[in-house]
Amino acid sequence: MTTRRKLVVGNWKMHGSRVANAELLAGVLAARPFACDVAVCTPFVYLADAAATLAASDVRWGAQDVSAHAQGAYTGEVSAAMLQELGCRYTLVGHSERRAYHAESDALVAAKAQAALGRGVTPIVCVGETLAEREAGQTAEVVKRQLSVVIHQLAHCAAEMVVAYEPVWAIGTGRTATPAQAQEVHALLRAQLQAATGRGDAMRILYGGSVKPDNAAELFAQADIDGGLIGGASLKAADFIAIVRAAG
Ligand code: PEP
Repeated sequence: MTTRRKLVVGNWKMHGSRVANAELLAGVLAARPFACDVAVCTPFVYLADAAATLAASDVRWGAQDVSAHAQGAYTGEVSAAMLQELGCRYTLVGHSERRAYHAESDALVAAKAQAALGRGVTPIVCVGETLAEREAGQTAEVVKRQLSVVIHQLAHCAAEMVVAYEPVWAIGTGRTATPAQAQEVHALLRAQLQAATGRGDAMRILYGGSVKPDNAAELFAQADIDGGLIGGASLKAADFIAIVRAAG
């Protein structure tokens, strides 16, 4: 059996300021060492600060999105090469807020994941069903479709990505999937990854959706949950650190 090292990633969304971020990261750094991998995905404009603050530590940093294009006349976009230049280990792609508010299709998410990997930036590919889809019994179909487009696009590199299962109805709502509900979806995603890449047992699948210090340990104890993608609770050093500790 493969042992997967747990990974906890903070998604700051569109929060923060240079002063607040410095305080938050100082708190996180002071809590090391950690028994799992830790990263923060900051707004683009704070990546250089994060790089400077975290470079000498084992805490990694990343972006929340990346352009599918390599370069050119794409006003407002940020390329994978730019993320690479700033030392990003990760970038989120296909977060449900981008799928919903920026009309990102499965194909665009896949192209972004490919652009990131092409520059050595690991895409954290977010998948998840809406409440309506869950209630219609379509959860498996939806997440498998979202993931299969990315697997197809990445082809022989698919095993390099990280996957995050984030039920849309659990993001920022205070409503968490039960550990059993989350595990059920993680298991089917892992089976899909294993069938496609032969390396699914070694790939990390994170859970995201209102993870807090008081529910993290039970979620992370599930067989196929390899850590978390943490939104709101990643903005408070004490909460984020407690969640990181729950992972290992
Ligand atoms: C997220 O932004 O990916 C997320 C899971 O948010 P929250 O933890 O606030 O639900």
